[in-house]
Amino acid sequence: MLSWLGRAACRDLDTELFFPVGPDGPGRHQAEKAKAVCKTCPVRRQCADWALTTAQEYGIWGGMEAEERVLMRRRERSAASERVSVQS
Ligand code: SF4
Repeated sequence: MLSWLGRAACRDLDTELFFPVGPDGPGRHQAEKAKAVCKTCPVRRQCADWALTTAQEYGIWGGMEAEERVLMRRRERSAASERVSVQS
């Protein structure tokens, strides 16, 4: 299921980089560094899909922070709800 991890751009990096200490200050710098790695990652989409599907609450996955994933899930639910109401 997680075979894509073998091709991850972060596979040889310290995982702490992807779990910032907080939203501001050093944590913000850490998050931006992690996101820069994600931008180069060949499995970014798989990583983001996995994080969304499994509702990961912490860390940066697929170039997204936890809050960004929450917003994306909300947008997806809203779009799905609109599609259902248009069809009925
Ligand atoms: S998208 Fe980011 S967190 Fe996900 S595997 Fe790639 S480098 Fe790692």
